[in-house]
Amino acid sequence: MSTAPFTGSTGVPPGTPTGASPGVSPGVPRGGPPGVVVRLPIGPDSGEAGATAVVRKMRGHEEALLHDPDLGPAALVSHLLAGTALRIGECERPGVEAVEAMYSADRNHLLLQVRRLTLGDRLAAVYACPACAARVRVIERLDELPFVALEETGDPEAVEVTLEDGWTDREGTTHTEVVLRLPRGSDEQFVTTFVASDPVAAADALLLRCVVRFGSVPSSELDAFGLRILRDLTLGDRARLQRALHEDAPGTRMLRGIECTDCGARFERQLDVTDFFVAGREKAPDSNRRSSTWPGTSTGAGATS
Ligand SMILES: [Zn+2]
Repeated sequence: MSTAPFTGSTGVPPGTPTGASPGVSPGVPRGGPPGVVVRLPIGPDSGEAGATAVVRKMRGHEEALLHDPDLGPAALVSHLLAGTALRIGECERPGVEAVEAMYSADRNHLLLQVRRLTLGDRLAAVYACPACAARVRVIERLDELPFVALEETGDPEAVEVTLEDGWTDREGTTHTEVVLRLPRGSDEQFVTTFVASDPVAAADALLLRCVVRFGSVPSSELDAFGLRILRDLTLGDRARLQRALHEDAPGTRMLRGIECTDCGARFERQLDVTDFFVAGREKAPDSNRRSSTWPGTSTGAGATS
């Protein structure tokens, strides 16, 4: 996959007012900061190349959401975007429901743009070194994160993955051709309750929801035994499926390569969009906001095969 340099996602200069939007929904006061146009990596409707959204800076309403302990990571992103998005595709003043229906890649990219608008391009991040436990402080440049838009021929509802080892059923047939759809906010919401307690199970549950076809395994069997089938796969095949959903999918590349300033060890960490608004906060290991949208697992972000 080619990675196009990030050239700024806005189709117009930042700060360009887009004018008042009609049809203000209840609870969203008129006025407030102007919006900027942002190109979406995928767009609300499959195959709609060049879809855009309009977002504006965060206000106190959204800041309060960051401190709401009742909001899980997926719901937090949905509410933050519902408060800051003036338009998504053709949908003016999208509510939480419309934001949940968006692809995860679009949600994360939009939230990144809201963060840049609100707090700027520099993010003070602290990473714990896995080798020596030192706290590594890095200033991330959010305007330099690589951005990949859906290719014109790409179909977010039919991502083909070929497994190396595959899954062998009782008849001895080995299934290696998998078709996935890219995850949406509603999928994140579905697994949000056990992301913190069991991230591997959450990653598998999210993946299973996104399986459109698994070789010639009947869908009834997938429904009943899908999680077991995923657990039967080799680590390399599990990583292939996770990569197709996340790192190789369209969107902003949030995987960062870090070098420990103390011991020189190199490691990778995923920038977490829900941490974008808390400057320099070090994430507690047991934080219930440990992952914004996709569960970090042994076969998920950062894993190699
Ligand atoms: Zn170290």
